Amino acid sequence: MTLTDRIADVERRIEAACARSGRSREEVQVVAVTKYVSLDPTQEILQAGFRHLGENRWQDAREKWEAIQEEAIWHFIGHLQTNKVKDVVGRFPYIHSVDRLSLAQEISRKAVERGVTVNVYLQVNVSGEESKYGLAPEKLLPFARDVRELPGLAVIGLMTMAPYEAEPEETRPVFRGLRELRNELNRAAVFSEPITGLSMGMSNDFEVAIEEGATLVRLGSVLLRSE
Ligand SMILES: *Cc1c(COP(=O)(O)O)cnc(C)c1O
Repeated sequence: MTLTDRIADVERRIEAACARSGRSREEVQVVAVTKYVSLDPTQEILQAGFRHLGENRWQDAREKWEAIQEEAIWHFIGHLQTNKVKDVVGRFPYIHSVDRLSLAQEISRKAVERGVTVNVYLQVNVSGEESKYGLAPEKLLPFARDVRELPGLAVIGLMTMAPYEAEPEETRPVFRGLRELRNELNRAAVFSEPITGLSMGMSNDFEVAIEEGATLVRLGSVLLRSE
């Protein structure tokens, strides 16, 4: 399959998932995850009309970022070490992996220093898998209240990763759980405005995530096969 074919196939599957769940296609943003590929395929994906790109390590993103920074909107989706925050803030307007206070504080500090506001998702380990980063669900509410007080950072939603399942349907409780957590935060009026974002769904499970309310899916291998 060519890139054009893969994009068309993904688009058809997104539209079908939206239709099945009574959602409109505009509610779902695709972030093309370019972490597996070099500059050329990344430029191709931009030319195909994608603007939001996801990367999970600055070292891997650097060459691409330097070449095409202005043409894309950059999302940092991977686990972020506190000592790497300096590489990310100011380059990536979105960070999807905020899962501890020390990290949020460092993002805040660098954002204020650099005069930017970083849009963040709080990452929750809904599945409870030990190998996954993210906050335990019961820690989310107090954590969100602490993060709310920090300048230079705006919480726009929640993020999770589901375990890989041979049968994607089995990821549904994880995505539903994240949606319920978002609704709980809003019922508790933790933020001055309700948050809407749900960053959930990857190549293997994005259709289920969309059915459960994903506002953003992070798609790597289904679009950009590794080189
Ligand atoms: C790599 C990665 C993705 C994309 O994964 P695919 O399964 O290739 O679509 C999405 N989210 C995060 C956090 C990732 O690290």
